[in-house]
Amino acid sequence: MVARVTLEIALRKEFDYLIPPELAGRVEVGTRVKVSFGRRLVLGCVTALAESSKHDALKPILKVIGAQSLVTPRVLELARWMADYYCCAPETALKSVLPDAVRKEKEGWRERLFVRVRSGGDGIDSLTKRQTEIYHVIEENRSIALQELLRLTGTTTQTVRKLEDKNLIEIAPQISERDPYANEQIVPTKPLTLNTEQATALETINAESGDFFLLYGVTGSGKTEVYLQAIARALEEGKGAIVLVPEISLTPQTVERFKARFNSGPLQTLVAVLHSHLSTGERHDEWHKIRQGRAKIVIGARSAIFAPVEPLGLIIVDEEHENSYKQEESPRYHARDVAVVRGQRENATVVLGSATPSLESYHNVRRGKYTLLELPHRVDDKQMPLVRVLDMRVEKSKGDKGPPIFSQRLKDAIHHRLEQNEQVILFLNRRGFATSMQCPDCGFVAECPNCSLSLTYHRREQALRCHICGHGSRAPRRCPNEKCGSPKIRFHGLGTQKVEDVLCKLFPKANVCRMDSDALKRKDDYRRILGDFKRGKIDILVGTQMIAKGLHFPRVTLVGIVYADTGLHLADFRAGERTFQLLTQVAGRAGRGDVEGEVVVQTFSPVHPAIQFARRHDFEGFFEAEMEFREQLRYPPFTRAALLTLRGRNEDKVKFSADHLKRELEKLATDFPELIIAGPAPAPLLRAENFYRYQIMLRLGQMSALSRRLAAMAAALTLPDDVTLTIDIDPVNLF
Ligand code: ADP
Ligand code: ZN
Ligand code: ZN
Repeated sequence: MVARVTLEIALRKEFDYLIPPELAGRVEVGTRVKVSFGRRLVLGCVTALAESSKHDALKPILKVIGAQSLVTPRVLELARWMADYYCCAPETALKSVLPDAVRKEKEGWRERLFVRVRSGGDGIDSLTKRQTEIYHVIEENRSIALQELLRLTGTTTQTVRKLEDKNLIEIAPQISERDPYANEQIVPTKPLTLNTEQATALETINAESGDFFLLYGVTGSGKTEVYLQAIARALEEGKGAIVLVPEISLTPQTVERFKARFNSGPLQTLVAVLHSHLSTGERHDEWHKIRQGRAKIVIGARSAIFAPVEPLGLIIVDEEHENSYKQEESPRYHARDVAVVRGQRENATVVLGSATPSLESYHNVRRGKYTLLELPHRVDDKQMPLVRVLDMRVEKSKGDKGPPIFSQRLKDAIHHRLEQNEQVILFLNRRGFATSMQCPDCGFVAECPNCSLSLTYHRREQALRCHICGHGSRAPRRCPNEKCGSPKIRFHGLGTQKVEDVLCKLFPKANVCRMDSDALKRKDDYRRILGDFKRGKIDILVGTQMIAKGLHFPRVTLVGIVYADTGLHLADFRAGERTFQLLTQVAGRAGRGDVEGEVVVQTFSPVHPAIQFARRHDFEGFFEAEMEFREQLRYPPFTRAALLTLRGRNEDKVKFSADHLKRELEKLATDFPELIIAGPAPAPLLRAENFYRYQIMLRLGQMSALSRRLAAMAAALTLPDDVTLTIDIDPVNLF
């Protein structure tokens, strides 16, 4: 027999190896093997078996890794699809479906010494009183880890060894599973009685297995309870479930809700957790619990979509609009989209949940691909918080220095809340480099004439550029708005750090804490700060989008958005959508307790649709308006996009390569008459880590056929040695 093997070194090719007689029966599709390749020994994965090979003098497989094949045939199929669709090498796709922790050659189980009593118990009489006590502890436990025994009885290894010498007990190594949540006290929960809306949603989900649903429900509407009960149904049918949550909301509380429901009761199963904060060993053990079928529920971040749950009944993607579901390195997959593909292939039900659905998903509802389920009310019947939009242009005209950070209204509101001993969250989404050219006097923002997108200010060249179409102009020194002409037009940039400084001066008695990626130095800082905030040690929490997500603090009654415009004028066709989502999410943080909440939004663009629709909590209205813009300019979700980026240290070479690439793409276009080729244009962040980047964006109604051709074209393309091309299908990050 011959095995076809994908090697872990990037070769975009498979190789045939002989299955030697001693390994017969142990090699199947998905088995990981060790083989020699040239002079090296490499690991690989068997992707097919055959009777014979067209090559002769095949080398034998040297070793089988692990007791069980690691990649199930279904996950292997999914990896193949991913390689095809996302234009990546099959070995890269295959690698990403297995966590590093289980790809090691040596098995990663932890062995520990365990103590057991030997049958008989002859010779107990000869023990001292202390030894007898210890013996009884072992006897009660049947089998106990040596370390645990020492801790329980306060004895030493030496003493225990004495019992072993008398043949009363046995000390032997045994696999001991790591449990990352071993120290959490989890109180079991029972299913809640659903309200009418939840019950309707659940019934609809349960009615038809293998369907796709968008569960659109405001924060606090009880989506998670619907997930839990839908999972229970899958378990009753003997199937498992995968729950995806964004990494940042994968908090112990989230995990606990799932464990608490399924740790006991008739449907009892293990809940495995997969995310990057686990140790390698923990990840190894969690993954194998799934592979062995002991854990039927998996909860995890992006890559948990590849968990070997079998049979799979249900996939839940919570906060489906989150950008973190997109992997920003090869394979550049979007876990939500992979979830839908996997659901389709395995006839599993897929539920996408969000309070602010992505335009893509809502569009799929309109097209009849997904069924819409709505939970428009909060479970506790609380009103959505009142949102006040403050026009900062007016605030500006009151003073004579640059735009103020805080309006009087916001300052008063903070003051008032502090006096009531309530808490405040201040939010500023300040992304590092992405700044726009804006006039503080009239709110003017320089926009591209072809794309109705804001232009990006390139400091080096003192130019404004559109990276979608390449349009460029000199950066003006005065506001181009004829009625204004203010010389103050400038580069807009304020960070959370500055907000923190100013707050400390304005409210010297308040405890102010900042939470953004700069402030988080150690692994547990995030948890620690949130813990302090929950316990009331912090009065005002300042942060970036990190604090916008799924947190629940009953004492927060005021949420202030310092500048709602920061994300609005980015050179990104999704800028409005992101701003709408962010404002809605942040606003959801206010008033989750007994006191009514209030949201203050400071902005220079008070009439912008993203801000106005968010103020009225009107997703539908926003959707209609935004879709009109997307349709006119043929942006996703009306089309699919691919972003081709060339990067290299020499700008001329990169530019030249981009022109060359464009000519190749134009040849392709004869087969795709609808294809839009925009660019090449310098990336908004032209130079990143000393690399120059130029981009071409493609848009087309359907992507599958094109992406296959792109992969072939990229493979045949000759580029200078030091220029590389990346292809990003359905890009999320355009920078
Ligand atoms: P979401 O996931 O939509 O934000 P959750 O499922 O977290 O909402 O629900 C918010 C709160 O309401 C939780 O504390 C939850 O326990 C509670 N809850 C949900 N459904 C019900 C119900 N049917 N009856 C009572 N309480 C509920
Ligand atoms: Zn102006
Ligand atoms: Zn443009």
